[in-house]
Amino acid sequence: MSSIGSQLGEIRERIAAACVRSGRDPERVDLVAVSKTFPAEDIREASGSGQICFGESRLQEAEPKINALPEDLEWHFIGRVQRNKVRKILSLFPYIHAVDSMKLVTYIDGVAADLGLKPKIFLQINQATEESKGGFDPVGFFEVMNEIRVLKHIELVGLMTIPPAVHDPEDSRKWFADLRKMRDGIEGRFSLRLPFLSMGMSGDFEVAVEEGATHVRVGSAIFGKREARVEGELG
Ligand SMILES: *Cc1c(COP(=O)(O)O)cnc(C)c1O
Repeated sequence: MSSIGSQLGEIRERIAAACVRSGRDPERVDLVAVSKTFPAEDIREASGSGQICFGESRLQEAEPKINALPEDLEWHFIGRVQRNKVRKILSLFPYIHAVDSMKLVTYIDGVAADLGLKPKIFLQINQATEESKGGFDPVGFFEVMNEIRVLKHIELVGLMTIPPAVHDPEDSRKWFADLRKMRDGIEGRFSLRLPFLSMGMSGDFEVAVEEGATHVRVGSAIFGKREARVEGELG
């Protein structure tokens, strides 16, 4: 088997083991293979090993790859969303993980109405209110939710976080648990379903799964080390 295929197999096994440890159903965890910086051939290889969901951070890079690949792949936009790219992003990506402000979500709703689309939206939460990160402040989020929940042209599916960088994945656990509690709080307060939690990357996806992640965004553990950071990359 190719190395991408065997890495994928290993990641899937580790997700399954984390599900066993935490009494979760592995069917409820989607592995989003983060293919930014890697060529379309690598994505094709991963899809040959049964991978369907792929994550990209930058529209200019993603668009030619998406167009070159079969249509049955599922694309997740995980980078910072620039206003002037929203139209194109919505037309290519059914899932958007890092919607980070009221202004942006309102704008997306308007563009989606115009295009006749209903994108699946994760709201990024800046849990530690880090200057370097985008996202909603967890404090006062209920008021924000009150405005977002009435938007008609987006499907609000969940919350997303990139917690502060740590050396020991165990140190991410409290952030992941907090995001889940925040989600549970919103569901209770507004009597709605917010089924998804996008959390966990190559270094800490198992802890994220144990704490309830439904979407783990894993790149380097599948495709190998990236050369450099990507413009529009978060974190
Ligand atoms: C690049 C990226 C990832 C994947 O990171 P790895 O450490 O390579 O798994 C996940 N989430 C976001 C938002 C990213 O930009």
